[in-house]
Amino acid sequence: MNKVGFFRSIHLKFVLIYLLLIILAVQIIGVYFVRKLEDQLVSNFKQSIEGHINLLEYNLREEMTKERDESDPSLGTEVKSILSDFISSGIAEVRVIDNRSIIVGTSDPNNQGIVGQRTTEFMVKRALALGSKEDKIYIEKKTGHRIWVLTSPIKSKGEVIGVIYLVGTIENVFKQMNEINGIFITGTAISMVITALLGVLLAQTITRPISDMRRQALAMAKGNFSRKVKVYGHDEIGQLAFSFNHLTKKLQEAQATTEGERRKLSTVLAFMTDGVIATDRRGRVILINTPAEEMLNVPRETGLSQPLVSLLELDDRYTFEDLLTEQESVILDYSTKERHYILRANFSVMQRDTGFVNGVIAVLHDITEQEKIEMERREFVANVSHELRTPLTTMRSYLEALAEGAWQDKEIAPQFLNVTQNETERMIRLVNDLLKLSKMDNADYTLKKNWVDFGEFFSQIIDRFEMTKQQDVTFKRELPKHSILMEIDEDKLTQVIDNIISNALKYSPEGGQVSFKVKEKAEEIEVSISDQGMGIPKENLDKIFERFYRVDRARSRQMGGTGLGLAIAKEMVAAHGGQIWAKSVEGCGTTIYITLPYDRSQEDDWS
Ligand code: ADP
Repeated sequence: MNKVGFFRSIHLKFVLIYLLLIILAVQIIGVYFVRKLEDQLVSNFKQSIEGHINLLEYNLREEMTKERDESDPSLGTEVKSILSDFISSGIAEVRVIDNRSIIVGTSDPNNQGIVGQRTTEFMVKRALALGSKEDKIYIEKKTGHRIWVLTSPIKSKGEVIGVIYLVGTIENVFKQMNEINGIFITGTAISMVITALLGVLLAQTITRPISDMRRQALAMAKGNFSRKVKVYGHDEIGQLAFSFNHLTKKLQEAQATTEGERRKLSTVLAFMTDGVIATDRRGRVILINTPAEEMLNVPRETGLSQPLVSLLELDDRYTFEDLLTEQESVILDYSTKERHYILRANFSVMQRDTGFVNGVIAVLHDITEQEKIEMERREFVANVSHELRTPLTTMRSYLEALAEGAWQDKEIAPQFLNVTQNETERMIRLVNDLLKLSKMDNADYTLKKNWVDFGEFFSQIIDRFEMTKQQDVTFKRELPKHSILMEIDEDKLTQVIDNIISNALKYSPEGGQVSFKVKEKAEEIEVSISDQGMGIPKENLDKIFERFYRVDRARSRQMGGTGLGLAIAKEMVAAHGGQIWAKSVEGCGTTIYITLPYDRSQEDDWS
């Protein structure tokens, strides 16, 4: 398709048309001209001879009608002498025949033998009989040349007394004609060659812009708009070329705009966090962006051309037509046992002005986190209300009892007051812990860091507990001897370690041991605090760092715990860039691990 062969090209067609027209014109002119010329030449030839014949006829008539004496030469001799004078170009032979058909004389000196013989020529006999002139062109059998035969009667007083029989060599006229024809053919051939060459050049002026446009159209089809057609003139083709260039420019602009829009759209679709799916009017997916692929965990190839409702696993609840009228967002819950996964889908219909539905655009939004936060918030409010209601209910009943007269009882009153006091303290602790958490949840929460030797800092805390502990528990320390210089918020980390040690003491059995370890690692230090208490069930190990979580609710509350200690510890360690986790064997003990980032090179700077 790309290449037009020379034999199919418009160029060749133009040249051929030129040549055919020229041939036609030359043929018509040639035939007319040659025919006319031939007629003219033949008639000239005949006229020139006929002029002579009249004179000859006159002379012969005189001789043939003359009264002769003995002294006069014979008619034959006279005729011979007249004929010998008569020989001229164009005349091969002249015979004179008398009215008895006897040949009286011939101009051919080599044919004198026929004199006195009777002629057999049919034309002569006719002339004698009819007395009319007649001529004919024959082809001589021997030579193949054309000859012109003329029979002219010699009349005297209205009677035919003889006939002149003339043979003209008309072949020369035809030879001449042939030569003229030759010249004509050569002329035609030369003019055709010149015309063909001119035709090639002239056709180029028409075909060049056309083939230029053809090439440009092909280039345009391949997306190349940079070419331009050369405008050779202001004729129709020139205007066509001009319009073609204009069209190219417009097309290029239109394509650039479309391409720009397409690129913008695909960039927006690729970089937006929401998933976008578009369908055709039958509800089959025609576009799916990367976030949507990831959200639905479906490769693009599988997603495309699937019905939207089955891609979103909505088959059992909705048809495509339902989605067209769905105003509210649809919640897609893909949660499994292992993880929560909830998406919100909004549908908008793509409609033309005529109301014809082109398809639907579904926007998917991952609301798992949002839902989780919402759930946690609800749980938190429920937990806080519950945690506050318990001590408040206890206090109310005790205060009611006191109000109803128990205050007068010297034994019960102090006990009751003691309980209310404990509950109040527990509430204060709870509120304080909540305040701490809320402070840390604040966006502009900052740590007040100082450079300290971690070993010394840890030891001091342990010392404090060792001095104040009331249980029969021994402490075991495995701390590095050298200093570990770190930048930490002492106050916050003290709270963390306090909480872990007090838990360890709380859950330690009598005579148990609490061990403290600090291990230096490549880029962090690992602090561990182990006890030999009842331990924590494996499935609850991670949950103890959640707010208000307690393995044994009643027991913990009884021990004065709020269930917030480890949650606060986790936040504080995370603020330091560290991690906290627990390992435990039920019935054998629990170890709480903390890692904190530690940069040895910084310490070298200090020392
Ligand atoms: P609480 O104020 O109740 O101690 P925490 O956040 O400090 O709250 O601890 C959460 C829960 O983790 C506790 O209620 C307890 O069930 C469990 N726990 C924490 N430390 C230990 C430990 N050393 N041994 C056994 N259980 C523990």
